[in-house]
Amino acid sequence: MSMGLQSIGCLSHRPAWARARQIDMRPDILNPLFAEISLFKGVGPALARPLERLGLARAVDVAFHLPVSWVDRHLTDRLDLADAGRVIGIMLTPVDYRAGGSARAPFRVLAADAHGNGVALVYFGRNSGWPRKLLPLNEAKFISGKLEAYGDNLQIVHPDHVLPPEEAGTVPARESVYGLSEGLTNNRMRDLAAQALARAPDLPEWIEPSLLARKQWPAWRDALARAHADPGDAQARERLAYDEIFAGQLALMLVRQSSRRRRGVSIQGDGRLRAMLKLPFAPTDAQRRAIGEIEGDMAQATPMLRLLQGDVGSGKTLVALMALLNAVEAGMQGAMLAPTEILARQHHETLRKMASGLPVEIAILTGREKGKVREATLMGLADGSIDILVGTHAIFQEAVRYKALGLAVIDEQHRFGVAQRMMLASKAERSPHLLVMTATPIPRTLTLTYYGEMDVSRLDEMPPGRQPIQTLVMAASRLDEVVDALARHVDGGGQAYWVCPLVEESETSDQAAAEARAESLKMRFGERVGLVHGRMKGPEKDAAMEAFAANRTRILVATTVIEVGVDVPNSSLIIIEGADRFGLAQLHQLRGRVGRGDKPSTCLLLRGNALGETSRARLALMRETNDGFRIAEEDLKLRGAGEVLGTRQSGEAQMKLATPEHMAALVDSARDDAHLLIERDGGLDSPRGQAARTCLYLFEKDAAVGLLRGG
Ligand code: ADP
Ligand code: MG
Repeated sequence: MSMGLQSIGCLSHRPAWARARQIDMRPDILNPLFAEISLFKGVGPALARPLERLGLARAVDVAFHLPVSWVDRHLTDRLDLADAGRVIGIMLTPVDYRAGGSARAPFRVLAADAHGNGVALVYFGRNSGWPRKLLPLNEAKFISGKLEAYGDNLQIVHPDHVLPPEEAGTVPARESVYGLSEGLTNNRMRDLAAQALARAPDLPEWIEPSLLARKQWPAWRDALARAHADPGDAQARERLAYDEIFAGQLALMLVRQSSRRRRGVSIQGDGRLRAMLKLPFAPTDAQRRAIGEIEGDMAQATPMLRLLQGDVGSGKTLVALMALLNAVEAGMQGAMLAPTEILARQHHETLRKMASGLPVEIAILTGREKGKVREATLMGLADGSIDILVGTHAIFQEAVRYKALGLAVIDEQHRFGVAQRMMLASKAERSPHLLVMTATPIPRTLTLTYYGEMDVSRLDEMPPGRQPIQTLVMAASRLDEVVDALARHVDGGGQAYWVCPLVEESETSDQAAAEARAESLKMRFGERVGLVHGRMKGPEKDAAMEAFAANRTRILVATTVIEVGVDVPNSSLIIIEGADRFGLAQLHQLRGRVGRGDKPSTCLLLRGNALGETSRARLALMRETNDGFRIAEEDLKLRGAGEVLGTRQSGEAQMKLATPEHMAALVDSARDDAHLLIERDGGLDSPRGQAARTCLYLFEKDAAVGLLRGG
């Protein structure tokens, strides 16, 4: 703590210009945490892959890689069949070796406790030299591992600790268990965590004192140490989660504040282009309302920061087009950003079709546009001959200069973060108006959490004439009937998705389930069955998708990889196995794969046989409504925030430390705290503000801090 206070003191005595410089740089105090993990003791090439898979590149990554559970080690001096299944710690003496009969059989070290009871220490897949060296005969060792019954015998497979007796005390009774990856053991991970902790400095306190006192949270470094030592320490975890949420809220507030301070351009188109649109339909009331709200914002000189929420198919594109044309009518340009190249091309096509016949130049720019084409587009943007640019993040690159960017639309699909939005804002002398579109039906109560203080427009009404999706719930025990129905559907020319359940939280088991299902369906449907899962390589996946899109395969067995972006209108049946194991929001997204063509569609939810009350209610809700917002709201009531958001969040919603439960419990305090800091406590230049700045850098919200430079 003292170190932190000193650094604040010295900062605040610097002249203003020096402080202004300081703003852009990570505080020195954090440097040890941002050291590369390759500098750690014992980290060689063998660990490179497993660490990379876990996303552990720097000390801070390891520090925030908190244990997920723990084992309580039963310390004993007597082997006991009654302890089978427990992790024990015991003094044992190796008495004999048993080599395996074949190359694949394990090597066994027979060992005895002080009372003459025996156990086999089992080593798979190693040459016997290593266990022999580790466990010489007749030398007592302290050994820890999970005791298992093997017939009438006891065994420990791959003991987790083998130590000389005098080091027995170094093994803790409660040991943290980390998320691991092949090639990285828990012991190594514990050692890395210890090294990361050793680098973690005491940091100045950024939490508002009365909140800190009320919650009785430990100081940051203490909290970190405690969370590693005892995964059950809820208070320490809560403090760390709070820090992350606070950093997020503060960053959002800074963005908001700086965009308020920035001057934008008041845009009021005269309607001449919009009057020329020949739409085959009338806008829904919800679309009209959203368009009105956006026009109102754009007319202000303060840049708009608005979120447009609308379920898949609710017609967000039309709203975006109206806003873009509003800008073009006023002599300004518009840009529309999509998360992937495919979606960018789709948008480009759609906008051009909708605006055909209008004197509006709509161009595209992605990583694929190169050479002359790219040059021409860049020129057109700079000289103003291009009115609307659609693209991927390529439209942010340094070389891209707009003559007069008035509006940026971000079709977010949950992928873009605050940083990108700000980059976009920096593209123009005057900040452009921003419209962020999302299809994620986040309940009202959670919107603020993820989008901060954006204004929100909602498309809570679907365009008329949608083909209905009938949702049915059936017991999985009626699988034969389901397959018969599938056969009738396919024989009648239809196509169908078959989604396999999440088996635990692992991709491998999802994949196995999908492969097994595909195999069994092939027995009946032969080559008409395709398969796609997350572990497939890109081209292989593309090929499977293409075959289905071209109707060469009729049934696509899939894991949840088809959740977003898949559009095969001819497929009007989706069967979801183990539906009770999915989050409702996810089921809703999956169901959105059908109902896209001219045929009525069906969604068959297969459930387990013994369902609890809540699961029943949830599936009933799916049957009852197609309204994504309602589903999200109800799911929130039924199962809590964690389930609504699912396990796979992305974009800025991605939290390293805070669970959705933390989020729900702490976000209001964090927002208030951030407010107080900015409004009452003197902002980032005050002593607490300096500490908060450290917190922002700790969670890599550098861009938000950088924003202040412009003032
Ligand atoms: P999303 O919100 O998922 O981006 P889209 O903008 O792609 O939805 O719209 C989905 C479909 O609905 C498109 O085919 C679009 O032309 C159509 N659509 C949009 N608005 C209306 C409307 N008011 N009436 C009828 N169809 C509409
Ligand atoms: Mg869309």
